Amino acid sequence: MAAFGTQFMPNMVHTTFAENAWSKPKLVSSDSVSLHPGAHVLHYASTCFEGLKAFKHDDGSVYVFRMDRNIARMQQSSSLLHLPNFPAELLEKMILSGLAEVLDDIPAPPSSMYIRPTHIGTEAAIGKAASPSNSSMLYVLFSQVGAYFSGGDVALRLLIEEDAMRCAAHMGMVKSGGNYASAMGPILRAKEQYQADQVLFCPQGDVQETGAANFILIDGNEIITKALDSSFLHGVTRDSILTIARDFGMDVQERTLSVEELLERAGKPGCEAALSGTAAVLAPVGTLIHEGKEHHIGNGEPGPTTLKLRKTLNEIQWGKREDRHGWLRKVNKT
Ligand SMILES: *Cc1c(COP(=O)(O)O)cnc(C)c1O
Repeated sequence: MAAFGTQFMPNMVHTTFAENAWSKPKLVSSDSVSLHPGAHVLHYASTCFEGLKAFKHDDGSVYVFRMDRNIARMQQSSSLLHLPNFPAELLEKMILSGLAEVLDDIPAPPSSMYIRPTHIGTEAAIGKAASPSNSSMLYVLFSQVGAYFSGGDVALRLLIEEDAMRCAAHMGMVKSGGNYASAMGPILRAKEQYQADQVLFCPQGDVQETGAANFILIDGNEIITKALDSSFLHGVTRDSILTIARDFGMDVQERTLSVEELLERAGKPGCEAALSGTAAVLAPVGTLIHEGKEHHIGNGEPGPTTLKLRKTLNEIQWGKREDRHGWLRKVNKT
């Protein structure tokens, strides 16, 4: 299969906001959109997006995973970026009607249909650096994706970064393009200088997250991750994994984790760490690079608890394990 996120279904669902109203969503070609070169998004980054997945079960039925969470997060991102608000039902209908159109193209597990809602400010106004766009475009792209790490499990190497921040502190919980641009420099430097896969941003020693995934430490029966605040992105996968861990009777601790405690625990046998996000689900972390020194987490290999948690989440998504928390929503033909 092609690289993750490079192949799109031919159509997308599209609507625009102008003169205080949303147009009726339409199925249109996903080849291009028409934008004024002075569009607000191109100059002042009024943009946010979401990422969620739909899965095919053995009986051929299709389910979308925790769509309500992604819609609520996109409403929050839009509102924090002062983009026009939209009703949850509008985006829900766009996602479900778009999925209904591609029902026969949803691949079987471990592949899935990745769904990418996008919201951008379109007003042609280069004088509006400090005021919001009064028009916008909302669309939903669909892309067939395979398992993220098709080559099997390799434990990732993370550079611990205590100086640079992923993004401005007040933008952390907004899923917005500018934040990834902001993290790009430190990530490319870490790849170049340390052959790191990702950067673990830990401003002032506070373990936060990487460029596009949340960080979870697993130490025996304890599972530790930063408590929700406005400085980082509140992952749906993070929440799902923590819920599954609680179901397993694990001691889930949402609290501040310092670099000092992380390194101290990492050295113990049986310690594990992982990155969580919709695309990769739960990716094992094997090595931390700190002040030029490499620290293995446990034995440096993918950990058994990480793999068990991921397998459990996948089995729920794939219809092979009971959906106790009502995370799946069936997609019907229109
Ligand atoms: C999307 C994203 C995540 C993961 O969120 P999920 O809802 O689990 O996909 C974590 N951190 C950042 C910065 C993200 O953009």
